[in-house]
Amino acid sequence: MVSRVIPVEAFDLVIFGATGDLARRKIVPGLYRRFKAGQLPASARIIGAARTAQDDDGFRAEMRAAIREFLGDGQDESSVAAFLDLLGYVAIDARGSEGWAELKARMRPGVVHAFYFSVAPALFGDIADRLADHGIADQDSRIVVEKPFGRDLQTARALNATLARHFAENQIYRIDHYLGKETVQNLMAVRFANILFEPLWNAQYVDHVQITVAETVGVGGRGEYYDHSGAMRDMVQNHMMQLLCLIAMEPPYHIDSDAVRDEKLKVIRALEPVSADEVVRGQYLAGRDGPGYLDDAENPESRTESFVALKVHVANWRWTGTPFYLRTGKRLRARTSEIVITFKEPPHSLFDDGGSHKANQLVIRLQPDEGMVLTMMIKEPGPGGMRLVQVPLDMSFADALGPEGSDMPDAYERLIMDVIRGNQTLFMRGDEVEAAWAWTDPIIAAWEHGTKRPEPYDPGSSGPEEALRLLHRDNRRWREIRS
Ligand code: NAP
Repeated sequence: MVSRVIPVEAFDLVIFGATGDLARRKIVPGLYRRFKAGQLPASARIIGAARTAQDDDGFRAEMRAAIREFLGDGQDESSVAAFLDLLGYVAIDARGSEGWAELKARMRPGVVHAFYFSVAPALFGDIADRLADHGIADQDSRIVVEKPFGRDLQTARALNATLARHFAENQIYRIDHYLGKETVQNLMAVRFANILFEPLWNAQYVDHVQITVAETVGVGGRGEYYDHSGAMRDMVQNHMMQLLCLIAMEPPYHIDSDAVRDEKLKVIRALEPVSADEVVRGQYLAGRDGPGYLDDAENPESRTESFVALKVHVANWRWTGTPFYLRTGKRLRARTSEIVITFKEPPHSLFDDGGSHKANQLVIRLQPDEGMVLTMMIKEPGPGGMRLVQVPLDMSFADALGPEGSDMPDAYERLIMDVIRGNQTLFMRGDEVEAAWAWTDPIIAAWEHGTKRPEPYDPGSSGPEEALRLLHRDNRRWREIRS
């Protein structure tokens, strides 16, 4: 199956923080891949901006090295050179006055203007003010802001207010790169483009839902940053909440950004509060192949969690009675992100199957090996009577879509193209972000004011024992974490 590449219109994209890690690792290599796929018009311009003093050629050389480092050595030199021709650089201090006039002079009229704030959130206000004061941005410009979007409701509100001084909501693209993943978007396609699932997609037929995002790495060199964040802020408030919304939301009336985001917001608002005591918190211990969390964080007293597991209810007509279990952590057994919808068992069992009957599960794998598996019961082959066996109906996207399927755009590539197209569906709206913080804030505040420590867990395990008990108490069990 050949994926269609529809070129975007001409644009000037300014990347603030162009010398930083995110720009080198994701943004610029991603733009190069889109260029190579034929999606960037020859008239596209990408302007790097940061304090480092260098000229266009210096920046191009740095980006040539970044493309090689993150996409591999075997790049076609003529394509790289043609892409680098689109790049330029302006030295700018977000808090200073130099460079802004030059940036303004570089912006061309009549093309899309987008500004990617790939800098610390503390600089968002400075950049927004200067873009407005120098007349560089207008009411048609778009800005892209990175996570973390605040560290609680108060700071998220302040950040929203800062951006709102100069930009309307329909100009602000808050990135959650999880939403750019192919499978995440497929959640909407599977739910709303097939008649098969929708009649079953409710508390009457769904026993429970599990969402797992497991990493094998620890916090490593990001220890200091992570220690001020933790799994609840870093993963649950944004990525996992977004996944939960896509699973639980009502069909929007249209696949239009506000229609989709209205439905997601309703889910967040319908979440029942969860007491901090009911949430399992964990911290990984040292193992043979690496230090423990307290060593990585360089804070022997730290109570920041590297693992969280919780049960949450969506209190609405569709979902009352179906729990959603969320779990995420570092240094776990395997790197995997998946959503498991476990359906209820048939109301009456015809077969004397000796307890071998298992409920149908729809497993949606986000990474690695994006795809879906539907487990079904069938008759075990052979003459041994009517015994049942569970088999997977397996659809790996890479297999189903052929070579194109394994070369799908990375989340960042897709999201940046959506910015240029002016499509906000896969970006978080300000009220969504605030509602998510309003739900997580009391849990985090109770932890911070309490004295209880997170439960330690072994690296390479599935997390603390208490996380297993969370489901055992409900006569359920987690799907095993495996890659
Ligand atoms: P970084 O490596 O520390 O880069 C920061 C960038 O900001 C550099 O280009 C730096 O360049 C520039 N900068 C710093 N102070 C400046 C100033 N006063 N004026 C103009 N430019 C300034 O950070 P990063 O990892 O790329 O992250 C950028 C943003 O993305 C952060 O908000 C981060 O939370 C978010 N994010 C990053 C990742 C990731 O994987 N890296 C993932 C998700 C979100 P100069 O020193 O040359 O000025």
